Amino acid sequence: MPRSNTGTATWQAIDARRHLHSFTDPKVIETQGSRIIVRGEGSHVWDSDGRKILDGMAGLWCVNIGYGRRELADAAHAQMTNLSYYNNHFQSATPQMIELADVLAGLTPDGIEQFAFANSGSEANDTVVRLARRYWQIKGQPAKRTIISRTMAYHGSTLAGSSLGGLSHMHAMDGGVLPDITHIEHPHWYVYGGELSREDFGLKAARALEARILELGAENVAAFIAEPVQGAGGVIDPPATYWPEIQRICQQYDVLLIADEVICGFGRTGQWFGSQTYDIAPDFMPMAKGLSSGYVPIAAIGLSRRVSETLGQGGLIAHGYTYSGHPVACAVALANIEIIKAEGLVERVRDDIGPYFTAKFDKLVAEHPLVGERRGVGLMASLQLVRDKTTRELCTMEDNAAIQVREFCYANGLIVRAVMQSIVLSPPLVITRDEVDELINILTRALDEAARKLGKL
Ligand code: PMP
Repeated sequence: MPRSNTGTATWQAIDARRHLHSFTDPKVIETQGSRIIVRGEGSHVWDSDGRKILDGMAGLWCVNIGYGRRELADAAHAQMTNLSYYNNHFQSATPQMIELADVLAGLTPDGIEQFAFANSGSEANDTVVRLARRYWQIKGQPAKRTIISRTMAYHGSTLAGSSLGGLSHMHAMDGGVLPDITHIEHPHWYVYGGELSREDFGLKAARALEARILELGAENVAAFIAEPVQGAGGVIDPPATYWPEIQRICQQYDVLLIADEVICGFGRTGQWFGSQTYDIAPDFMPMAKGLSSGYVPIAAIGLSRRVSETLGQGGLIAHGYTYSGHPVACAVALANIEIIKAEGLVERVRDDIGPYFTAKFDKLVAEHPLVGERRGVGLMASLQLVRDKTTRELCTMEDNAAIQVREFCYANGLIVRAVMQSIVLSPPLVITRDEVDELINILTRALDEAARKLGKL
């Protein structure tokens, strides 16, 4: 049994000494201690001091069906007692991975035919890089290797994932970006749009892809990777003109299109996948997070017909992980998908709680002096904090407004995320209207407090 009654101070002391955290400055752990979460139910978690906290981020954008669902525990228990492990190497399979691949084929956009498995979004994207380059080798065009991505993209934390991502502090950590990966600007109209309409800016941003392909030579470009809505980069939903133009460019220059659905998948945008929300026809669809609602690690990669047919002609696939298609993870993912279907969570995001949530944020944009823009779709949203709403002048890092808002929220029982000078939210898809009201109430008080400190209230 874990030492569950040890108490916060002791946990924090052991944690500071023994555990290297992700995306955290160890000095912060040393001086302030970690926040220890011990329990979860529905849209709430509890910390080791017994405080109940509304999780406006669904963990890391993943607990779509909410915490503590017995059905998933039962699925894991049944699978572990029957067949705790087998793999998909060397001609093997288990019924759970076969069934999950078949179920996913029924949910993904037309044209996605086959699925590979991995254990995280990062691994899924590593897999995509390898398979995309392999595709072009089999096609007799091995020079087509370069992957084009975008600034402020997040595609994971492995070597390939961090290089595909467009976050300079991640690149700086180990000295740069892998060869044959390059980035174009992301389509954030509020910041980069200037005098252009959203639609004109969407076309301009998409045409940066065409320009980069021409610069590199289409004969050297394997693929373009993008999240349907950029998540960790600050929930940046593109103008309506963006994706159709990207699709045109990829077709025209014979560049594979990778839609990273790790956040957008499984109802987050009000459709099963972001690709359906934006009418994207990808060649690769990496997905993770909501696939199991974060209950166990699992990822999958949807492959288009042309990709699966070509890989089918190329001989041995020299790739895979010990835990690709782990039967326990697949059984849990299947139970998770059952719940999303049975409870109509995708439709709920599209028709009910999504619009309710969005309307509350639109009201903040209209009324609050610190909020210049709402971004997002479905149940992913961000609020851009600004100094001046008319000139679209953003708050600066020195203003420190987003961090202040985040800390106020946490102290008052709400988890939100701060990205640059935006507040980001991505709650469980089961969040109730009362809980949305609670979220807005705490967030508004936090924004008021930050505005007062900046002399704006
Ligand atoms: N792609 C996207 C779009 C993501 O948001 C993330 C994680 N936030 C990843 C990939 C990486 O997933 P993981 O952390 O499971 O490796």
